[in-house]
Amino acid sequence: MDSGIRPLNKSLRIAMLSLHSSPLGPLGTRDTGGMSVYVREVAREMACIGHSVDIYTYVPCSGDVTILYPDVRLIELDHGRKPEISKEALKDYLPEMIRALDRFVLHHQLSYDLVHSHYWISACVGTSISKKWECPHLITFHTLGLVKNRTTKGEAEPEVRISHERQLMAGADAVVVPSNGESRHLLDLYGAASEKLHTIPCGVNKVQFRPADQRQSRCALNIDPAATVLLFVGRFAPVKGVPTLLQAMARLARRHASIHLVVVGGDGEQAATTAQIRSQADALGILGLLQITGRIDHEQLPLYYTAADLLVVPSTYESFGLVTLESLACGTPVVATRVGGAAAVIREGVNGILVDRPDSTALADGIERVLDGIRRRQFSPQRVRNSISAYGWDRVASAILSVYNGALQRQKYY
Ligand code: UDP
Repeated sequence: MDSGIRPLNKSLRIAMLSLHSSPLGPLGTRDTGGMSVYVREVAREMACIGHSVDIYTYVPCSGDVTILYPDVRLIELDHGRKPEISKEALKDYLPEMIRALDRFVLHHQLSYDLVHSHYWISACVGTSISKKWECPHLITFHTLGLVKNRTTKGEAEPEVRISHERQLMAGADAVVVPSNGESRHLLDLYGAASEKLHTIPCGVNKVQFRPADQRQSRCALNIDPAATVLLFVGRFAPVKGVPTLLQAMARLARRHASIHLVVVGGDGEQAATTAQIRSQADALGILGLLQITGRIDHEQLPLYYTAADLLVVPSTYESFGLVTLESLACGTPVVATRVGGAAAVIREGVNGILVDRPDSTALADGIERVLDGIRRRQFSPQRVRNSISAYGWDRVASAILSVYNGALQRQKYY
């Protein structure tokens, strides 16, 4: 049979499950963000060090197979159902997803050494399929339902997610965690076994994200060269803390005549989340200081990071928070709440400031202090960039590979 889909023949054959969201999806919209970047970059680096990766998605469902990079394929399982199933509804299709994946693999005579699942929906499928395929199962959760609910007003993750996450944790061979904070959440709130947790911070593509002349970037984006420019980049979700940032802006606007906030991300002009931001800004009297760009292609983002004076990450919860690393790689300091990866990455006075509480007074104070540091030339772009020299995706992939190898070794002895 020549199906056109060839079996993988490199050292390790890895099945990555990213079922609820394609790594090629529109970054910055409601359900698509850091996880997609993570899956792409880790897969690419795995291939660079001699392994092969098939990434499976269930949404979208074209049935297409795309070569993302040499030895990395993106396989959209075809379930023939239109319109596409929402992320919330996907939990009702778990048995179908398992069957579709198994059928595809059998049909094309594929086999894998291990399964690495991303997010809890994929982990449900990964738990079953790895048993059938008799191979280890690793999970990266990306976010945790219970932590979202506890940290953030407006988040209401269902109990079914939380109870599944507990069971999945117990059944996994290993769990890859991007920050110490997330590891603590897993230990304290989910009762995870510490020997299963492997804390591996995320990375950044330092070729793509690099310093550039601020004047030129502002000119390209039509931003006033004399303005003080704050930048936000992310999905418009309650955890991202945009309302707090707007309140902080209102405070800062009283003291800084030329301050300006560029908000990158979201679901477009017509979306309710965009309307809410505009109406809050209007009520605070800062609508004229705000530019909402909508989602911007990942490749264009260095222009925004290098045009800004600083990036603000006002999140109430992050499992890591890639935008912090991207900004720092571009030489732009960051003011971030002490959550996720920022707690380890930000070094006060070197590359930004950590804010202990996600409230507008503390945030405005942190921004004020970084602006003061910028005036005193404390944050040279090169110094800021150098502060994250250890955070490359190549390191992330080799650390994950050690976890894979450990799981495979243990499997041999049972
Ligand atoms: N992003 C993008 N365009 C946008 C908004 C966001 O490419 O308009 C990317 C951003 O560069 C980052 C990712 O989406 O790589 C967001 O990841 P992060 O970990 O900060 O947040 P998450 O979405 O995982 O909560």
